[in-house]
Amino acid sequence: MRGPRACPSGALGGTSANPANSWRLSRLRRPANTSRSSCATRRCTAGSTPTNRIPSSPSRPRRRPPSLPPRRPGRPPKHQSKRRPGSRNTPTPKKVSRVPLEPTTERFRAHRVEHFTESVIREMTRLALRHSAVNLAQGFPDFPAPAELKEAATRAIEEDFNQYAVTWGAKPLRDAIAAKYLRHYALELDPETEITVVCGSTEGMIASLLATTNPDDEIVIFEPYYENYGPDADLCSAKRRYVTLHAPDWTFDPDELRAAFNSKTKAIIVNTPNNPTGKVFTRTELELIAELCQEHDALCITDEIYEHILYDGAVHVPVLTLPGMRDRTILVNSMSKTFSVTGWRVGWVLAAPHLTTSIRKVHDFLTVGAATPLQQAGAFALSLPDKYFIDLAVHYAERRDYLMGLLRVAGLAPYRPAGAYYIMSDIKSIGYSDDVLLSRHLVETVGVACVPGGSFFSRQGLGSHLIRFCFCKKYETLEEAGRRLQRAFRGAAD
Ligand code: GLN
Repeated sequence: MRGPRACPSGALGGTSANPANSWRLSRLRRPANTSRSSCATRRCTAGSTPTNRIPSSPSRPRRRPPSLPPRRPGRPPKHQSKRRPGSRNTPTPKKVSRVPLEPTTERFRAHRVEHFTESVIREMTRLALRHSAVNLAQGFPDFPAPAELKEAATRAIEEDFNQYAVTWGAKPLRDAIAAKYLRHYALELDPETEITVVCGSTEGMIASLLATTNPDDEIVIFEPYYENYGPDADLCSAKRRYVTLHAPDWTFDPDELRAAFNSKTKAIIVNTPNNPTGKVFTRTELELIAELCQEHDALCITDEIYEHILYDGAVHVPVLTLPGMRDRTILVNSMSKTFSVTGWRVGWVLAAPHLTTSIRKVHDFLTVGAATPLQQAGAFALSLPDKYFIDLAVHYAERRDYLMGLLRVAGLAPYRPAGAYYIMSDIKSIGYSDDVLLSRHLVETVGVACVPGGSFFSRQGLGSHLIRFCFCKKYETLEEAGRRLQRAFRGAAD
């Protein structure tokens, strides 16, 4: 369980004429009770000691070094302030007056970000914290990372791997990545020219797109999609073209996919295993994608972050291994999900040298590199035995089944995922048709955070009958969420 539920119903205040909209807009505003000044004040009173001054040690009186000329009495040296900081005579610093930017605000808002809203997934985590809700929204584990991995990171810091690594990634990690892909997919990669270590797959994806697209290029995206891809495309001034994945098994219409490709298509993004649907693209589906990429001279950029989280015999096929795709695929992945270290921000991009050269240019100037000691630990992680990767899938399969059961008992209609660690649920069965209204009710009143389905779709209205839960959580967390959902909705479907 993630702490007591302390959320009185309607804690955010009454409903407005259009509660769904006001909730969406509220993302942009900081609620009054969590303003910066009140937080700072709270921190100050709770954490302050009687004095903020550093006490001078009585055992070691400060002496003037003998080499310095004697100080003239009564005049402090030029470089010293006349009053000692913290003394009773310290002048109150003059308040810097704020000139409101209002008239010129527009001037400082880049067109490329003006229509962005913040990530709904990450917003839900903040709402979960505010309302002490069980967080089944953002996909990060609430159980510990593997002990041996934490030891490897600690060891790396102690052994002083604390300065920049080579920009493309520490050599041991690039070697370990090459060895991993050889072991799991018989794929040969050159660590010197085909592997770039980045700050998580988020950087991997945007760096790949920035490196390969030009304004007005088109990018094909399967919908529902992981919400970052939209802003990623926008930051490149590329146009998005969507192809629908249809429930319950999230298949797509090959003709619709074919129609999405044209002479302007620069790339297609394929996330398999898929977030949020749990779909694992089959070899046949990927072969069609590969065929279209070759026909239209387009790239396939794959997000394979859930590659080891597969159920019911599903098989993960990296597009990079398909015939004709070695030179036109960019594979993005990271340590986050496979090793339960989403906060480490260590990812990698694999691509043929001609693509890697451009990707490295973006990465070099964008972030320089991922955290060095964590890269060292990454090298250790990737060489863990096969059993680690098999157990990961087994453990998540059990959690998936457990949460599927809890959601069904609560009256929801969950879709069974074949991979990744999310469950999309239909909400019509509990009498709802608005994902945003229900998500708000769940986090504020029921005490469970999920992600409204609409945030995985391009247009308002699509996905409004869906919400997403994640199950990368302790059993107690899932159990508590199930208890709260059942208390709120059990019987709604009867
Ligand atoms: N992949 C996670 C999710 O979909 C979140 C990742 C993130 O917030 N960076 O919940």
